[in-house]
Amino acid sequence: MQTYRDQPHRDHPVAAEEGGISGADWMTVDWSQLNRGDIDVFKRRLYAHLKHRLARSAEEASLHDWYTALAHTTRDLLVETWTDSQRAAASADAKRVCYLSLEFLIGRSLESNLLAVGMMDICHAALAEMGLDFGAIREQEPEAALGNGGLGRLAACFVDSLATLGIPGEGYGIHYHHGMFRQRIEDGRQVEVPENWLTYGNPWEFKRPDVCYPVRYGGRVEMVDDGEGHQSFVWIHAEEVLAIANDLPVPGYGGFGASSIRLWSARASQEFDLQDFNRGDYIGSVMAAMESESLSKVLYPDDSTEQGKVLRFRQEYFFVAASVADILHQFRAQSGADWSLLPEKVAIQLNDTHPTIAIPELMRLLIDEQGLGWDEAWEISRGVFAYTNHTLLPEALECWPVALFERLLPRHLQIIYEINRRFLDQVRAQVPDDADLVRRVSLIDENGGRRVRMAHLAVVGSHCVNGVARIHTDLMKSGLFADFHRLYPDKIVNRTNGITPRRWLNQANRPLARLISRHVDEDWPVNLDLLRALLPLAEDAGFAEEFRRAKTANKERFTSFSGRTLGVWIDPGSLFDVQVKRIHEYKRQLLNVLHVITRYNRLRHGLTAGMVPRTVIFAGKAAPGYAAAKMIIRLIHAVAGVVNGDPRTRDWLRVVFVPNYNVSSAEVIIPAADLSEQISTAGTEASGTGNMKLALNGALTIGTRDGANIEIAEEVGEENLFFFGLTAEEVAACRSGGYDPMAVMHANPELAEVLNMIRGGYFSPGEPEAFRPLVDALLYGGDHYLLLADYAAYVATQGLVDAAWQDAAGWTRSAITTVARMGKFSADLTVLDYARDIWGVKATAPVMQDLGPYR
Ligand SMILES: *Cc1c(COP(=O)(O)O)cnc(C)c1O
Repeated sequence: MQTYRDQPHRDHPVAAEEGGISGADWMTVDWSQLNRGDIDVFKRRLYAHLKHRLARSAEEASLHDWYTALAHTTRDLLVETWTDSQRAAASADAKRVCYLSLEFLIGRSLESNLLAVGMMDICHAALAEMGLDFGAIREQEPEAALGNGGLGRLAACFVDSLATLGIPGEGYGIHYHHGMFRQRIEDGRQVEVPENWLTYGNPWEFKRPDVCYPVRYGGRVEMVDDGEGHQSFVWIHAEEVLAIANDLPVPGYGGFGASSIRLWSARASQEFDLQDFNRGDYIGSVMAAMESESLSKVLYPDDSTEQGKVLRFRQEYFFVAASVADILHQFRAQSGADWSLLPEKVAIQLNDTHPTIAIPELMRLLIDEQGLGWDEAWEISRGVFAYTNHTLLPEALECWPVALFERLLPRHLQIIYEINRRFLDQVRAQVPDDADLVRRVSLIDENGGRRVRMAHLAVVGSHCVNGVARIHTDLMKSGLFADFHRLYPDKIVNRTNGITPRRWLNQANRPLARLISRHVDEDWPVNLDLLRALLPLAEDAGFAEEFRRAKTANKERFTSFSGRTLGVWIDPGSLFDVQVKRIHEYKRQLLNVLHVITRYNRLRHGLTAGMVPRTVIFAGKAAPGYAAAKMIIRLIHAVAGVVNGDPRTRDWLRVVFVPNYNVSSAEVIIPAADLSEQISTAGTEASGTGNMKLALNGALTIGTRDGANIEIAEEVGEENLFFFGLTAEEVAACRSGGYDPMAVMHANPELAEVLNMIRGGYFSPGEPEAFRPLVDALLYGGDHYLLLADYAAYVATQGLVDAAWQDAAGWTRSAITTVARMGKFSADLTVLDYARDIWGVKATAPVMQDLGPYR
C-alpha cells in the first residue's frame, strides 16, 4: 500500500497539478484571510476520522484513507444543516416535493460539498500544512454514476437546486450496486467493464435499515364481498422483496438549506426464505435471496432506447412502491389519515415514464388499503402527480406488455383498465363518434400484442405534463400528444431544463469562477443573472486578456490530462472543437466525423486557406447493444489514427477521443472547450443540457435549431453562435417529400470523396468493409437523421467558425457575452418555475431575496 510519504509531490505543492487543477487553485488563496482556529479544527477532525474510523496513523494512511477521512470530515459539516432543515420542514408542516427518478447522475461529491459549506479554502490550507495534495485525494473518489446521461444529470441538478433554494423535498431512486459501466477502448472499440463504485463503501451515504418497506410481485387478485353489496379487491402476492433506504445528503450552497436523495436497495424478505429453510432447501433459499437482491444490482445502460426487459420492469415497480409507501408513511406521521389533504402536502414529479406505475400504485393503496372510493382516490392522485416527458423518439417510449402486468402486477393492471375505461368514456362523451381517436389515445395499444402505453397513463394520471425546451413542448402538442392536447388544452406546459451553476461553473472552472467573483457580486452562484454585470467587460481589453488566460489554463489542464492518460499531446493554442455526449445516431457524431474527414482532405490537397489549427475532441458511451453507435466510436478512432499520424496535416488537425465520459471527465473537458457541437437533427434532441454547460463555460455553439439551442441563441444573440441546417419543419417536409441521399452525394464531390473513403476502407485498410454499414445506412437506408442533407451547410458553417477564430478579440467578446447571458439556464430558475405553478411549494432560502420576480 502506498503511504502518503511515498507521494513524490508531498513537499512540492506546485506539483499538485498532477492530480487536477488544485495546485493553481490553492496557490491563489489569500491565506491571511483564513482563520487559524478553523484550520486547526479541520486538521484535528481529519486526524480523528483517520484514527477512529479507519484505525490508521498518518504515516500509514494511503491517499484513499485520506479521501475517506476527508469525506467524513466534510460530511460532519453538512449534517447539522441537513438535519436542521429536515426538522424545520417537518415543524412548518410545509408541502414537499418528491422527485421520482430511475436515474441520478451525481458524479463526485467531495469538492461540491466542500464548496457548498464554504470550507474549500480551509481544507486546502489544512492539507497544505499537512503536506497533502487535494487534487490527488479528490481523484480517489469513485463516481456515483447512477444514470446514463442528460436525464439522470438533470435529476441531480434539480436536487442541488431544491437544497440551495430551501424547497422541502428530495429525490427518490435506486441504489444501484453497479452504476453506468466503465468504457474502455481496445483496438479502437468500446469494451464495457462493470464499475464497482461501492467497493470501499460510500462515505457520503447513511444506511437506514430501519426505513424499510416490502415490495410485492405476482400472485392473483381476489374479490371480497362484505355481504352488504360492497366489493373490495385483495391482492394475494406471490413474492416479496424488501426495499432499504440509503440517504445521500445534498447541501445547499452557502450552508443554508439541504436536501437529500433516498436510494433504495433490495434485500431478500425473510418471510419467504424461511419456508425454504424449513423444507431443508438451504442453497435454494439463498439463491432465491440473491435473485431478489439482484433488483438493485445494475443500471440499464440504454439511453433513449427502450429494451423492455422484465428486470427493468421489476426495478421500476420496486423503487416506485418503496417511494410511495415512504411518502404515505411520512404524510400519515405528519398529517394524520385525512387523505384528501395529500395534494396539499406532497407533489410527486415523475422524471420520464419510468416511475409511472406510481399512479396505479397510489390508487391501489388509497382504495384497497385505505378504503377510499374511486373518485376520491382519483382526485387525490391527479392532484399529486405531474409528469416530465423527455423524448419524442418512438423507440424510447415505454410500452409494457399486458401479459407482464398480468404476471407481476395483476391488481395494477385492473386499475389501469379501470382508469382507461373511465377515460375513454369521457373521450367518447367529449368527441362523439371518433373511434379512431379512442384507439389512438387508449392506454392500451391493441396493435400486435397488447401493451400498456406508459406515456398515456402518465398524461391521464397527472395534473400537469411538461416538455423540457420550448420546441420540444411545441412538438409534443402538435405531434406525440396532439390528441391529448386537444382533450386537455391546459395540461401540457414547458419547463426548459437548466444546470446547476455550482458544479458546472463554480466548481468545474475555478479559473473563470475566480475571475468572475472579482468582477461581479459574489452571490452569482445562487443568482446566475448577476453574470450580466460582465456584459460591459466584453469590451474591456484587460478583462478579455484575463478571460483568455482562464480559458488557456483550462485548455492546458486538459492537454496535460490527455497527454498523461491518453498519450495524445495536443496544442493548447489550437481551437478545441468539442462534442461530448452519449453516442447516438440522432446526435450525429457521424456528421462531425464527415466534417473532420473533409477538413483532412482539404489539408491533404493543400487547401489550407482560411483554415485554423483544430483539435476535435469526442467523448461518449454507446449502449452496449447499439451496433451503429459502437461502429461510430470505432470510426472516430480509425480516423484519429490516420489524421493524427499524417505529418502533412498533424499541425492543423488532431482528433482525440476521451474514454469513459462521465461527470468527472465532463468537468475537465467542458471548461477547456472553445466550440460546442450541438448538431442533432432538428426536432430530435428534447432539450440538451451539455449545450448549456459548454456555453456557460465560454464555448461558442455550432448547432442546429433544436432543443434548448434555440433558447440559448435567443439569450446570447444569434450573432454569438453558429446555426446551420434544416429546421424541424424542414426536416419533416424533407422526410415526407422524397428525400434522395444518393442525389445529394452525387451533387457534392467533396461529400462523395469522404463517403467513398469510409466505404472503401481508407481508414480501415486491414478490414476494408469495416465501416461500410455506416455509409450504406446513409445512402441506401434512407439517412433517417438527414446527415447528408445538412452536410454542406455544416461544412460551410465550420468555415465561418475558422474565420471567427482568426479574430481573437471578436471571439473572446462573443465568449464573454455568452457567459454573461446564460443566467436563464440556471436550474434554480427552472426549479422555481416548477415550484410555483406545478408543485405549489415555496422556497425559503435567503438567496431568494436576490431573485427579484421569483421572491
Ligand atoms: C450533461 C451531461 C450529459 C448530457 O449531455 P447532452 O449533450 O445534453 O446530451 C450526459 N452525460 C454527462 C456525464 C453529462 O454531464
